[in-house]
Amino acid sequence: MNTGETFDVVVVGSGAAGAMTALRAAENGLSVLIIEKAHKFGGTSATSGGVMWIPNHGLGESNEDSREQVMDYLASVTSGPVNPEKLNAYVDQAPEMAYYLKASGVELIPAAWPDYFPDKPGARADRSVVCPTYDGRRLGDDRYSLMREQFNRFKLFNRYAMDLTETFSLMMQNKGWRRVAANVIRRYWMDRSTRKVSHRDRRFTQGAALIGAVYEQVFKRGVQLRMETKLEHLVIDAGGKVTGVEVSNFGRKYTITAQHGVVLGSGGFEWNQELRDRFYPVPGLTRYSSTPEDGNRGEGLIAAEKLGAATEHTGEGWWIPTMTLPMPKSSNFHEIHQAAFDVGRPWSVCVNRKGVRFVDEATGYDSFGQAMVQDQIATGANCPCWLVFDAKFRAKFSAGGLMPWAHTPEHKVPADWWDHYIFRADTIEALATKIKVPVDALRTTVSNMNGYAKTGVDPEFGRGSNIYDQFFGDPTVSPNPNLGPIDKAPFYAVPINNGDLGTKGGIKTDARARVIDLQGKPIAGLYAAGNASGNPFGDCYPGAGATIGPAMTFGYIAANDIAERAGNQLSGKQPS
Ligand SMILES: Cc1cc2nc3c(=O)[nH]c(=O)nc-3n(C[C@H](O)[C@H](O)[C@H](O)COP(=O)(O)OP(=O)(O)OC[C@H]3O[C@@H](n4cnc5c(N)ncnc54)[C@H](O)[C@@H]3O)c2cc1C
Repeated sequence: MNTGETFDVVVVGSGAAGAMTALRAAENGLSVLIIEKAHKFGGTSATSGGVMWIPNHGLGESNEDSREQVMDYLASVTSGPVNPEKLNAYVDQAPEMAYYLKASGVELIPAAWPDYFPDKPGARADRSVVCPTYDGRRLGDDRYSLMREQFNRFKLFNRYAMDLTETFSLMMQNKGWRRVAANVIRRYWMDRSTRKVSHRDRRFTQGAALIGAVYEQVFKRGVQLRMETKLEHLVIDAGGKVTGVEVSNFGRKYTITAQHGVVLGSGGFEWNQELRDRFYPVPGLTRYSSTPEDGNRGEGLIAAEKLGAATEHTGEGWWIPTMTLPMPKSSNFHEIHQAAFDVGRPWSVCVNRKGVRFVDEATGYDSFGQAMVQDQIATGANCPCWLVFDAKFRAKFSAGGLMPWAHTPEHKVPADWWDHYIFRADTIEALATKIKVPVDALRTTVSNMNGYAKTGVDPEFGRGSNIYDQFFGDPTVSPNPNLGPIDKAPFYAVPINNGDLGTKGGIKTDARARVIDLQGKPIAGLYAAGNASGNPFGDCYPGAGATIGPAMTFGYIAANDIAERAGNQLSGKQPS
């Protein structure tokens, strides 16, 4: 059915890529519709940490980064086929995008976060940018509860919003953490006017702060957002140019015309088992993903492939180790927990199912996932692997969803979790037997780790030897904040999956975010950004925010390209 509806631009997906595309396109004077298949908008982006990797961002007072340093760094960390034009476009336009975002009314602040390969040339610790806490009710009471909420574990007790500083303070039980927790809870209950209308904290933090603040500007510029509206097919004219979308909404199908472009910001394919099986060397299950359940199923990619689009970098996810636990107070549901920083804490070690280490556990979570995949290929005994720790770790740190003693003492752990989700034994040998890992191998690994804890040097993988590792170590532990002897009973193990934050590859795009076909030519009228498209770094995750940074940047680039072509069309100029 053709309803006769026409917009200049139709954006598919309401996450970071879609929101930024819409904002910039509207700024450029184009009429914009965002279609979103979910009943909530904001995508994975709204649930995320909201960190953007914007090298050479120029924000803050003492930013001495330079284009040369950024290129040095990227040259040393990216491997495999990377499109240099696309990489250059990112490096040049990410700061421009951030500048525009700020000028449009979205506050941005630099965050101290070491690049993920801190020993490589050009690495720095000031390239990540975040949004300060945002008052969600600014979106209006009809909208603020319709935006996806943060990832459960980024909230205190799954309810109270925390910013990154509060999260880290509680995670590490830093001095004064109890006061921090009390303030977070007090603020929520003191907000009586909001408590009357919603359980939702009006304090939008992390990804919700970013997406909330962007949507305030998106709505101000007259962009329409239509939820529960799913892209089914792309519509083309006789010349093969994309001219619109066919969508479904509660079973009704209709088409919408896009005069100047369709932008796919529909996320990756992490919830599509078939595409995982097709693309990944070690597939893993959809439910290992920490993105919103059954959300991104690669529908943009499937629609684009039907028009002959090529794909790139599809062999990898944005890996992050995850574990699974039953959801509190919800029968028959399981919750995915990230264990990104837990795996590198002192008094612990990660082993494959042969009881052997395979990585510097404190490395960036994406590199950790890559090591899991490589070890699975080499040994067939990874994915899942095991995080093994002792009573000291248990007292202080979380292990995926198992919170530290102060929050979840032993008697509060549901009885059915033991030896199903979390394994416990009085000796390392008994633990090895329980988790079916060779006893001698695990004993040797733990004994080696205990030796490394004494010297502070991990000769196998260099755990704790760089500032990234140390950033997430325990500064009270010496000589190495990431290494402590695993020697205090009881001993524990939790299974760790090769989870993800989304997929790294997708539809092939060029430096202008145009979708490229199998012959290497752009498909007229079709663009992609964010995880719907191949990322600019190939298989690499250079720093915190390196998925949302490009998503926003290529959304911005797509909107500018569409506007330029639309202007050219109006003025009769030949598009470049
Ligand atoms: C807990 C967590 C924390 C994270 N923290 C960070 C971080 O701090 N920094 C960082 O860079 N990355 C982070 N990530 C990863 C990051 O969130 C994602 O890579 C990023 O948000 C992807 O943005 P996107 O716009 O491409 O997709 P999304 O934000 O997932 O948006 C895609 C949208 O498209 C919609 N959609 C899909 N198919 C269709 C269809 N057929 N029709 C209509 N709509 C459709 C989806 O419903 C969704 O709303 C985190 C991820 C998680 C899970």
